[in-house]
Amino acid sequence: MTRPINIAVLGATGSIGRQTLDVIDRNPARFKLFGLTGGVGSSDRKAEHDIHGRAGEGDFDARVEAMVTDPRCDLVVVAIPGARALGPTMSALRAGKEVALATKEVLVMAGALVMKAAGERGIRPIDSEHSAIWQCLWGEELKNVRRLVITSSGGPFWAHPELDLDQVTVEQALNHPRWSMGRKVTVDSATLMNKGLELIEAHHLYGIPLDRISVCIHPQSVVHSLVEFVDGSFKAQLGRPDMRLPIAVALAYPDRLPDAVPPTSIHELSGLEFQELDEDRFPSVRLARDAAATGGGHPAVLNAANEEAVYAFLAGDLPFGAIIPTVERALEAFPGCGGSLPEILEADRWARAEVKAKFGSVRRA
Ligand code: MG
Repeated sequence: MTRPINIAVLGATGSIGRQTLDVIDRNPARFKLFGLTGGVGSSDRKAEHDIHGRAGEGDFDARVEAMVTDPRCDLVVVAIPGARALGPTMSALRAGKEVALATKEVLVMAGALVMKAAGERGIRPIDSEHSAIWQCLWGEELKNVRRLVITSSGGPFWAHPELDLDQVTVEQALNHPRWSMGRKVTVDSATLMNKGLELIEAHHLYGIPLDRISVCIHPQSVVHSLVEFVDGSFKAQLGRPDMRLPIAVALAYPDRLPDAVPPTSIHELSGLEFQELDEDRFPSVRLARDAAATGGGHPAVLNAANEEAVYAFLAGDLPFGAIIPTVERALEAFPGCGGSLPEILEADRWARAEVKAKFGSVRRA
């Protein structure tokens, strides 16, 4: 090996960001922390660029741009939540950097533009399901893929059909059975919108048509996703749920890091169950597939309306059961637009304003 890979971490104080720093720290011969962004007072680490603050504050965006396009930077880990990850991702790709992507919104909103900017080298996924599919596709030809199957634990409510989803509390929604994640993505796991967003992500990452990507419920979260091939064979990637594995895979590709996570015993791989998704009780996957098929600004509206509705739920302003219907109404009201970056960003703004304007009618007394 020559010199360590210089890595910039956008969103170093979030769950994925902190685990990325952990992977970098434990492999000093391979990786060097080149720069990071995070909340104020986020880190005592020494990096070439150490940018604290929030997007939109002063010259924050310009400093992030300078960091991710710096000739010395090799790889950019994008782990800042939401639409503001889009700009730095495009900048890094246009500068020829490798991008390891944890932020779903980037591909959901602007997948076609992002994959075009990535070109031949593609994007290294950090989402566990997409990392699994990526690993299953290594050495395979896309023409031989019949179907992608994204697994879902089902979230906290799948196994409780007796629950009235209008009555569930923020605390119940944040109690995820398998993964420890941020609040927004944990609520998305409870509505299964997380799987809808992941379906759109997978479509863009691997160029597989939307109707050849499905979601199944797998409560054990041991199989992180599957690929079915034209000959009837399946490949799956298995392991204990631990985000440090997809992070390590993304950073070390095409190599693998020894002991990236503690070993999984064969006992932990037993008793695996798979069930069909009930799209009537959890219509979010269908909603996402339809939005992506329509294209243009529709996926951005899906994403932004969902984000605003989730934050309204977390603030106590919207019942859990109203999150997905709120997204559906925004999609129905959206007049549609083309797929250029300015149009996508305008669709994002439109959806946020649309959902916020509706809060008055649902705000609890
Ligand atoms: Mg995931």
